[in-house]
Amino acid sequence: MKQAERIETVTEMTAAAPVDASPEPAKPPHIVVSDLVIKYGAYTAVHGVSFDIPKGEHLTLLGPSGCGKTTTLRSIAGLEHPFSGEILIDGHPVYSSSRRVNVPTEQRGVSMVFQSYAIWPHMTVFENVAYGLRVRKISADAIRVAVEKSLDLVQMRRYADRPASQLSGGQQQRVALARAIAFEPAVVLFDEPLSNLDAKLRGEMRVELKDLQRTLGISSVYVTHDQEEAFAISDRVVIMNEGRIEQIGGPQDIYDRPRNSFVADFVGSANLINGRVDKAASGADHITFRTESGLSLKALSPRPVKGDEAQVAIRTAYIGLGATATSHANRIEGRVARRMFHGDFVQYLIDWPAGQLVVRRPPAELIEEGETVTIAFDAEHCVLLEASTS
Ligand code: ATP
Repeated sequence: MKQAERIETVTEMTAAAPVDASPEPAKPPHIVVSDLVIKYGAYTAVHGVSFDIPKGEHLTLLGPSGCGKTTTLRSIAGLEHPFSGEILIDGHPVYSSSRRVNVPTEQRGVSMVFQSYAIWPHMTVFENVAYGLRVRKISADAIRVAVEKSLDLVQMRRYADRPASQLSGGQQQRVALARAIAFEPAVVLFDEPLSNLDAKLRGEMRVELKDLQRTLGISSVYVTHDQEEAFAISDRVVIMNEGRIEQIGGPQDIYDRPRNSFVADFVGSANLINGRVDKAASGADHITFRTESGLSLKALSPRPVKGDEAQVAIRTAYIGLGATATSHANRIEGRVARRMFHGDFVQYLIDWPAGQLVVRRPPAELIEEGETVTIAFDAEHCVLLEASTS
């Protein structure tokens, strides 16, 4: 749990917000984190993580509780003092152990939104958003324009005169967002900003956050342990585990091509099947994988085969059953052992020659328990995993 904290809508924001929402590749990095190490006494919370964020990108740090997401984010904000490494914003070091640089939070040009809305209940919505602007030497007219613009962006202008104590959770979080963007910061850091909202509102706010980030062309770093949220709003996701990066990539890339068993298991739902690589033509990404039970599967190796890989991952959602199982590279007979209705999907446990397979199908395709079915999946959806190094 995060402690309640004030929103650090920080001074020294540059006035010019980049308004470049086009998805051009190869943009120069806006934020660079290199070999960041964070220690608490003898305990190392973050073991040398590195990633870049191009201008206007929304990057999410995703991982289980305690994996080092928040401490990494807080280091970018300047709220945490790393042990070593380097953080650049706009090409300038804001932290560098080798150059002995540690720029104070308020001079980094970043704005932060926390899980706790941290708005002042005794002030009106307008005053909450204006607060950070008033401490600067900005004219009353300019403040009014900036506040109204921010409130418009989060659809809260009509509540401007309402005391913040009379707002719902979702409205309070919108005010916190308006306050964070009122300075037109180039970088916004989000620490689980939606986790106090109910599921429906969280879904709506995801869409709004994404739209806002695109409209303003802000570079943002977002922390969550909610995979669905990370995938829905991010351009790229960094999967962290025990202070290390397991994989960086676009949401679909990570889902379709998990690098190792941690990612395959943490993100989405997958069957992990043990065995060995039977045949790998040199340079080809398609291989034959022999399961421990002797079943031969056509599989994909996204990276050159090293020889010590011993697992494939098959996503439960990419497996066809019965009538839907037609022209796939892998077609095997199985039997429905269990059927569980989950609403949006039906989960089947299928007995097949390699043990038991979990399959998720749409509820419109009901198959009875005990039925013999054809299990089918493409080689592209049977992905060879890197051998675990831990
Ligand atoms: P969560 O999702 O639960 O917030 P997280 O991935 O954000 O988890 P961090 O808050 O970054 O995790 O913490 C990483 C590790 O560092 C954890 O083991 C945590 O207990 C430890 N840690 C964080 N802050 C401190 C601190 N001030 N003193 C000592 N240890 C800390």
